[in-house]
Order: sequence, then structure tokens, then C-alpha cells
Amino acid sequence: MITSLYIHVPFCAKRCEYCAFYSEPVKGGQMDRYVLALIQEIESQAQLVAPKTVFFGGGTPSLLTLSQWRRIFKSFAAVGWGSIEEFTVECNPATVSAEKARLLRDCGVNRISMGVQSMDEHLLDQLGRVHSRAMVFRSFQILRDAGFNNINLDLMFALPGQTLAVWDSTLTEILEMGSEHLSCYEVIYEEDTLLFERLKAGEFVIDEDLADEMYRLLVERLNAAGFKQYEIANFVRSSSVPADGLPQYACHHNINYWVGGEYLALGPAAAGHIDGQRYQNWSNVDLYCDAVEEGKLPRDPGERLSPLAKASETAAFWLRMNRGVDLDAFRRRTGFDFEQNWAKEQEALVVRGWAERHENFFRLTAEGFRFADAAGAELLRTASAENQAPMALNWGLSPKKLSSKGCWSSRF
Ligand code: SF4
Repeated sequence: MITSLYIHVPFCAKRCEYCAFYSEPVKGGQMDRYVLALIQEIESQAQLVAPKTVFFGGGTPSLLTLSQWRRIFKSFAAVGWGSIEEFTVECNPATVSAEKARLLRDCGVNRISMGVQSMDEHLLDQLGRVHSRAMVFRSFQILRDAGFNNINLDLMFALPGQTLAVWDSTLTEILEMGSEHLSCYEVIYEEDTLLFERLKAGEFVIDEDLADEMYRLLVERLNAAGFKQYEIANFVRSSSVPADGLPQYACHHNINYWVGGEYLALGPAAAGHIDGQRYQNWSNVDLYCDAVEEGKLPRDPGERLSPLAKASETAAFWLRMNRGVDLDAFRRRTGFDFEQNWAKEQEALVVRGWAERHENFFRLTAEGFRFADAAGAELLRTASAENQAPMALNWGLSPKKLSSKGCWSSRF
């Protein structure tokens, strides 16, 4: 039985300059229609999943009104989805109210991921974010007062115009806030974004050396503050590491993606992985609602990766985690011997100084972490069952170092 559930809420108050995710501007009627369709999709798919982790991503889930949230939670209860161990909702600091925070907490949400991105007012404005610094402080306090003791803050670095000093000061303020988790991503320039247009127009240039310095500063400062890095962009405040090697407050929902686990995904543009098959719902709210209302699946048939392509994708994502590829677990999960099947690639990564063998793990070095996507891309095998390139090639793994906005789930 699948234990991981992702739900996409495709509405944003305003499009941020760097964002290529699917979202629609807020329209009351369309949001109501979306919620009804989502509930119908929940009812029709409920038997596939007994969720232990749930992640509402977007878009901006915190834009949903109190009554819309109540209807969604009621549908969870109606299909018997209880005992959710980790229940995350993404929030924008501009859309957190005390009443909404209390409702979420009372209805079982126990983790909030808040998109802060920067504590510099000028950068926030430049990125087209709808929130201010003051809203970050205010919303964080509201969430604490509502009883949330597991809060992630998303940050971005290597932004145009961001100096090392500005980044350092953002880190100082964020660390003082005392969240349990931080996700910190280097900005990427995706086509069809305003930021990409500005880059093309020559308004600024990319400074790779500065980005490297910012990443180094990030790791240094977070280590010094008692955070443990467990994935290239993810850090958790933790004093002890339990036997499974995953610190308390690590995002188990995202870890399931990174280890190649299955998950059900609902809502427009949501992409899931069930029984070896990848699928993605239509990235159009109206088409999605039309299909669900007619009792049809809101998507085209998915893609089934060949076992080797799937295993290679799993290896590439495991490499993004600090633990690296657990050789025994990899064999059990994929049926492939990592040492034997990827011997040449492993050797090349070791020679380059990007990776090392440590006990039963093959993992990236500190240097390799800056090139995790390039390293991962070397492990990918492109042949899928239908002779198509595996979708992972389009998921942010490129021959260049890069990362993505938000938790991994945000890509779905
Ligand atoms: S970054 Fe987040 S808030 Fe901004 S447009 Fe994209 S999904 Fe919406």
C-alpha cells in the first residue's frame, strides 16, 4: 500500500519572477470548483493509499479559505485517512492568519513549509514576492502560537543583486528565528520566467564563484548553528541522529521521493509514481475539473521506466543525500548491484574528487556536493521501457550544478 500523498494547490496571489511551476491567479469561483474536484479525486483514489506522509504543495496552499480547508479535511475523514505521521502544508508568509493556522493544526497538520526566500526587502520586491520581512516574523510567530513545532523555511541564494553580505545577514536572521528545518536553493533560470528574460536581456550576469561562496557560507553557518545537512539543499536542526540515520524533523515525505518510493499525487499538475509508472495530471485547472467531474482520470497514460532506468534515477537521487547510495538497500530496492553496474561511473567520480566510498555507502564529497546534479546525471541510463528518456532528465538533473525551488515535491 502506498503511504505517501502529494496534493497540488495551483493558485498564487502573483507570479514570482523565477517561478516556472504551474499556477493560476486567484479566482474565487475557480478555487471552489477546484476544491470540489479535488474532493472527488480524493474519493475516487482513496483506496490506493493509506497516507503516513501528506504534503500540500503549490502554488500557495495557504490561499485556500477556512471553509475550503474544512471541506478538504472532512473528505480526508470520510475516506478514512487518519493517523498521518507527517502532514505538511506550504504557506506564503502573506497568507498566514491565526485562524487558519489553528484550523490546520487542529485538523492534524503538524509541519509547515514557509517560502521566505530572502530577508532582504529589496530582493523580495525584485523577485515579485507578495510578502515582506515583517510578514515573515509575524507569520512565524502565528504558527508557533498555533502549536507548530516543526517549521521549514525556504531560502534562495545566488539571486541577481544578492551580495555575500546580504546572504549572510539573511542567514543570521533566519537562524535567530529558530525553525527546525531549512531548505536552501540556488536560484535557477528556467525558460518562460521573467528572471530568465532579464538574464537574456543582459540585466545581470551569473556569478558562479559567488554562488559557490554562498553555498560554502550556508553549509558553514548552518553546521555551526547545530543544523545537520541530510540532502544537498536540506538541513535539520538536530542534536541526535537515530539509528535509521535520519534526524528528527527531516522531511520524510521528500525522502520517499529521493529514495525512489511510490506516491499518489492529486490535483492539477501533480505528478505521481505508482507501481513503476510515472504520471502527471493536466496542468490546467479547468481541464482537470472537467475530467474529474466526468468521472475520468485527469491525465494521459503515464510512462513506465525500465528497471535499469528506474534504478539509475534512484541512484542519482540517493547521491543528493548526505548518506549517499546505501549499497545493500539499493540492491534490495532495485534488484541491481550498484558497485557492479555503475563501476566505471563510480571510478570517474572518485578520481574527480567528487565522491568516495565510505563503509557500505557511496557518497559525494563536500566538493562533489556542488556538482551533485552533474554527478547524478552521469549515473542515469536513458533507456525506458518505451525507449524514451527517463523523466528524471527533465526534473532538474542537468550536467550543470543546479537546484530547485522548495521541497522536491514542489516539482510535482
Ligand atoms: S514561487 Fe511559489 S508563490 Fe511564487 S509563483 Fe511560484 S508557486 Fe507561486
